[in-house]
Amino acid sequence: MEQNNRQKTDKLFSLINSLEQYRTLSLTEYEYLITHRCPEAAHILSEKASRICRRIYGNAIYIRGLIEISNFCKNDCLYCGIRRSSRNCDRYRLTADDILQCCEEGHALGFRTFVLQSGEDSFFTDDVMCDIIRNIKKRYPDCAVTLSLGERSRSSYQALFDAGADRYLLRHETADEEHYKMLHPPEMSYANRMQCLQELREIGYQVGCGFMIGSPYQTAAALAQDLKFIETFQPDMCGIGPFIPHAATPFRHMPAGDAELTCYLLSLIRLIHPRVLLPATTALGTIDPDGREKGILAGANVIMPNLSPFSVRRKYELYNNKACTGNESAQNKDFLSQRMEAIGYEIVTCRGDIKR
Ligand code: SAH
Repeated sequence: MEQNNRQKTDKLFSLINSLEQYRTLSLTEYEYLITHRCPEAAHILSEKASRICRRIYGNAIYIRGLIEISNFCKNDCLYCGIRRSSRNCDRYRLTADDILQCCEEGHALGFRTFVLQSGEDSFFTDDVMCDIIRNIKKRYPDCAVTLSLGERSRSSYQALFDAGADRYLLRHETADEEHYKMLHPPEMSYANRMQCLQELREIGYQVGCGFMIGSPYQTAAALAQDLKFIETFQPDMCGIGPFIPHAATPFRHMPAGDAELTCYLLSLIRLIHPRVLLPATTALGTIDPDGREKGILAGANVIMPNLSPFSVRRKYELYNNKACTGNESAQNKDFLSQRMEAIGYEIVTCRGDIKR
């Protein structure tokens, strides 16, 4: 038994070393790293990941002001609290003025990236969005605009890019097509999601993909495919966080994903793609009060505090008990700075583009 364990950890450590050196493993090797992980391996992995991150980004943590512009959504993703069939969801939509006001407040607080996120709301046509983007870029030429508006046509992505948007976040959700079908209604497709990501890249956006940890029916093999996808797609950003159930969805009784595995995957992603911008997400901060710090120590280098008007924060409820106060609130930036300093990091005021 002792012998067996020794062999297991030896193999784990040699895979981790090989990943650090070559930034690639086979699907079965990724799967092995996930299923056979142990606290000792997680520790070594996080030390490597944070060292690699420091080599590139120093002790800087980039911040993004997250503005949740609408919770209307035409999609019906089975995991999401703002899905179309969520009847009790109190729907809202910010006006262009509301959004600009958030940016004004955010800019004064030191934010130089604004992330506009929403459900797939047909109110925000290309014309409406382009106007908003142009206005933000005119008032705050020193800022980056990131969009996270879901799936749109190539011509739409192009129009928003031409209006000045810099980055686009579109999580692929899972790189396993069969798994994708279990998380989404039949009218949504894995192929289209992937095509959107390709188009965004071709147009010239800095592109972010990402997935949930512990989403229903997820296997270690599916996670291995997510890692392989990151290795081959080489996204500029990658958002990962634990799945958290929402009471108004079909997945209400499913267990939440866990913080420990999320941090382990953050470290693996840092080894696979050293320069990637990697947020310690709100979902991680929600299931664990020290989640943001743990994420940073595991290799993350971005935090996206909530900059939405207070009146709507509770309504953009992707999952139950979503954190939007304390560490998660843009208005508490000083508090966040202190918490980052306590673990040896510094919140910086800059656009925070990927270092190429
Ligand atoms: N409509 C946009 C934005 C979606 S919300 C889009 O399609 O890209 C942003 C992310 O929140 C989603 O991509 C999903 O990965 C995550 N999310 C949704 N519901 C969740 C849940 N119950 N638990 C954890 N994360 C969730």
